[in-house]
Amino acid sequence: MAGRNTTYHLFDITLARRTQVSPSMVRFTFTGPEVDRMTTHAPDQRIKLFFPSQAGGLEALAEIARLESDWYAAYRALPDASRPPMRTYTIRALRPEHGEVDVEFVLHGDNGPASRWAMHARPGDRLAMTAPTTEVEGPRLGFEWRPPRDVQRILLVADETALPAVAGILETLDALPSTPRVEALLEVPRSTDVQALEHPADLYWLPRDTVPGTGHGDRLLHELRNIDLRREVLALDGQSDTADANDEPDTGRLLWESAALDDEAPFYAWVAAESRVAMGIRRYLINECGLPKRYVTSMGYWRLGKAIG
Ligand SMILES: Cc1cc2nc3c(=O)[nH]c(=O)nc-3n(C[C@H](O)[C@H](O)[C@H](O)COP(=O)(O)OP(=O)(O)OC[C@H]3O[C@@H](n4cnc5c(N)ncnc54)[C@H](O)[C@@H]3O)c2cc1C
Repeated sequence: MAGRNTTYHLFDITLARRTQVSPSMVRFTFTGPEVDRMTTHAPDQRIKLFFPSQAGGLEALAEIARLESDWYAAYRALPDASRPPMRTYTIRALRPEHGEVDVEFVLHGDNGPASRWAMHARPGDRLAMTAPTTEVEGPRLGFEWRPPRDVQRILLVADETALPAVAGILETLDALPSTPRVEALLEVPRSTDVQALEHPADLYWLPRDTVPGTGHGDRLLHELRNIDLRREVLALDGQSDTADANDEPDTGRLLWESAALDDEAPFYAWVAAESRVAMGIRRYLINECGLPKRYVTSMGYWRLGKAIG
């Protein structure tokens, strides 16, 4: 994950603007002295953000960044009280020529340091971010969006936390060499959270508030059953993997299973949502539909009832 490899750099960033994208989503535009040297490798590029704690904390982090080559180990070694909380987010847009980077936050309440910060943040507030830098040569890491060159059909399944990544993915579809059919199932808290996205895809917006009693992921799991994958399953017949998705234990950590496909693969599923929801979707696609595991990337972006630092 971000922050544990040397191609990531610790950036000092300052909030320049907040833009209310929809009732549940805010876009934050950050600037910083080194943002012109930030880079991104894919539309789902993950980053880490560090939030001020009651004891301050960001000063200790800045000192570590200045002095330590293995800043992550030094960060872990900080006493609990002065270790700034760290959370994972996505680069929604990067404009190095203007020294600006956008990150979109779901406002889910006062119950976590990131969402709490987002509710109250004002221009001028400072954070720290680890992101890839142009300055360090090394492997391109921190993303999972790897569409095969010849892919014919793509299925995107996401809740609101993965909407920034999907919005970025949709913007890149025109550049794919194979012009695949793309379907995206997007669950959001409210009907007023539906965004006008640029895309050459079939989008299915699934607001939870339009169906009373709907929990996280319910609409995704329900709507997925209307997506007909029989042709793909038939085409991939005989490629089944050795184990089914039920073999993947719920470890309590975020689900993280990456597809492993060559350029000729005709199908690709990219799934990111609450961790148990993502696991339910994975089990449906693999066990019920019969898709081989290696065609499905499944990621838990958060976990209901649990803080993930
Ligand atoms: C690769 C990756 C990319 C991500 N990109 C984004 C992004 O671009 N934008 C974004 O908003 N999130 C994104 N997330 C999700 C984000 O990291 C989590 O939602 C995180 O838990 C938020 O931290 P917090 O401090 O607000 O809450 P935490 O302290 O982690 O959790 C406190 C409580 O809030 C609950 N909670 C956490 N998130 C939500 C939510 N979305 N809805 C309802 N309850 C929640 C938890 O279950 C817990 O009970 C991404 C996660 C990953 C792994």
